[in-house]
Amino acid sequence: MIKENLTKVRSTLADGVRLVAVSKTKPVEMLQEAYDAGQRLFGENKALEMRDKHAVLPQDIEWHFIGHLQTNKIKYIAEYVSLIHSIDSLHLLEAVDKEAEKHGRVIDCLLQFHIATEETKFGLDMDEATALLESAEYGAMKHVRIVGVMGMATNTDNYDLVRHEFRTLHGYYEQLKAKYFAGHAEFKEVSMGMSHDYRIAMEEGATLVRIGSTIFGARNYGVPVNDV
Ligand SMILES: *Cc1c(COP(=O)(O)O)cnc(C)c1O
Repeated sequence: MIKENLTKVRSTLADGVRLVAVSKTKPVEMLQEAYDAGQRLFGENKALEMRDKHAVLPQDIEWHFIGHLQTNKIKYIAEYVSLIHSIDSLHLLEAVDKEAEKHGRVIDCLLQFHIATEETKFGLDMDEATALLESAEYGAMKHVRIVGVMGMATNTDNYDLVRHEFRTLHGYYEQLKAKYFAGHAEFKEVSMGMSHDYRIAMEEGATLVRIGSTIFGARNYGVPVNDV
């Protein structure tokens, strides 16, 4: 099924859009199945879960961290993570910079924006992002590279609202590009869209879509995988 699901999803991707297969909560056997079907880019939202999966799966997988990241957990992913989608504070970016330095790496990061109407979702607003980018602390960092923006739309079937939120995020991307990243070719990523809304996200300029349940099936939170 995973192979078929992947084939279906891939057939719907717009040119230049990369698929992050969101494998959180799913066992490594399922990730291996996706890998065998050609998938190399996986997204996880828990540092320890990513560490454990990274340890046993093929080494050419590109691991993207997409969840809320606690500073004391960066150490579990710093050595190999290829993109952190969820930078929502200067403090977190500083901590990533420090851990990356220990491994002699530069870690690519996205600034996560709060675009949804829900209170609970993490993310910066434009003022906070501006303050971060203009701070002396950011100016001194040598081991992180900001390559774009990320956001999650409101979880609703009001697709006008969802489209509006994605359009807002793309607007933030354009503003930041013009003001802080002109001439930086690497600043090119707009990470938005999940299983139920990625088509709209692509229409609004997504370059990375993060798709889980359409590929791996619904997640069953609260019930351990081995609990029958
Ligand atoms: C879980 C998750 C996704 C994928 O959600 P699906 O609805 O399963 O496609 C995408 N982005 C983030 C940040 C997530 O936590």
